[in-house]
Amino acid sequence: MKKEKIILTGDRPTGRLHIGHYVGSLKRRVELQNSGLYDKTFIFIADAQALTDNIENPEKVRQNVIEVALDYMAVGLDPMKSTIFIQSQIPELCELTFYYMDLVTVSRLQRNPTVKTEIQMRNFETSIPVGFFTYPISQAADITAFKATTVPVGEDQEPMIEQTREIVRRFNHIYGDTLVEPEILLPDNAACLRLPGTDGKAKMSKSLGNCIYLSDTADEVEKKVKSMYTDPTHLKVSDPGKLEGNTVFTYLDAFCKPEHFGRYLPDYPDLNELKAHYTRGGLGDMKVKKFLAAIMQEELTPIRERRKEFEKDIPAIYEMLRKGCETARATATATLDEVRKAMKINYFDDAELIAEQVKRFGQE
Ligand code: ATP
Ligand code: MG
Repeated sequence: MKKEKIILTGDRPTGRLHIGHYVGSLKRRVELQNSGLYDKTFIFIADAQALTDNIENPEKVRQNVIEVALDYMAVGLDPMKSTIFIQSQIPELCELTFYYMDLVTVSRLQRNPTVKTEIQMRNFETSIPVGFFTYPISQAADITAFKATTVPVGEDQEPMIEQTREIVRRFNHIYGDTLVEPEILLPDNAACLRLPGTDGKAKMSKSLGNCIYLSDTADEVEKKVKSMYTDPTHLKVSDPGKLEGNTVFTYLDAFCKPEHFGRYLPDYPDLNELKAHYTRGGLGDMKVKKFLAAIMQEELTPIRERRKEFEKDIPAIYEMLRKGCETARATATATLDEVRKAMKINYFDDAELIAEQVKRFGQE
């Protein structure tokens, strides 16, 4: 049988989605969903994972589930083509996580670079919730329960996918060929691998408050772009400016297309010329920021407008999620049946087992 091509990816409901999510993963998902090249697409809202570091804040997670779902619909994820579901509603994922825990060592988790950075980011030091520490394992459960072959994510997730692949290999080695090893699908554009925050920090992240959200108003976008981090040594227009670490130029690398120059900045033929002028000196930050703001508005206005439409019928969004959970659960249950069988913990649907025991106890 031909192996099915299955996409799976998700987001934590710790805030509304931002343009880092958009370029790092969301945009790609929509393209893949519409490409017709995949048999199934699963997109999930990782509420159980969000609770691992928000355990005292369940209301925040609850409120953001609907925000993320609205962002999904706004960027063009289509429930007719993709199964959109909520992680906590699939209890099979917890069961899988529990079994996978035996396949991973504490030192392996401690070495996971994503876990290391995220622990630092949250100032957990030694009081790390066990659930947070083990989240690469639960992520392996999310991916493998749906036999995902392709996981479109940002660069920060690379060690997670590697951890999943190790778990799959170990499981299949011990219990026989059951699980599928997923491949990571990173953005092609280097600037999109890990979009920096508007403050110039390494990653735009809900938890750091340095985001341009997909649902920000036109005014908010304008303000955020105007106050973005650039080159702190570029004080006068005539000063030569640096491109490295200059967030405005990183965003242009991520969002600017050749046709934008004709529309918004006809004095320059392309991005290379704009960069050359900035490096030479004589080009002010404000001019570049205005150009970026125009591009951002062009990209974000249709998303914002679609969101407004979906906000008019919130019960329909919950209904879409409920149906998605049902479909997702059926798939996860089927995988769990195979896993239980492989692990020899399927006591009641195995006639052979009972016959064997009858024989062993001499009751033939
Ligand atoms: P949190 O701070 O709660 O961890 P987050 O902003 O990091 O939130 P996640 O839900 O952890 O968002 O990430 C969802 C997806 O978006 C992942 O695939 C991740 O790789 C991608 N992603 C998140 N931030 C960025 C970014 N700044 N650039 C590119 N991709 C990103
Ligand atoms: Mg994150």
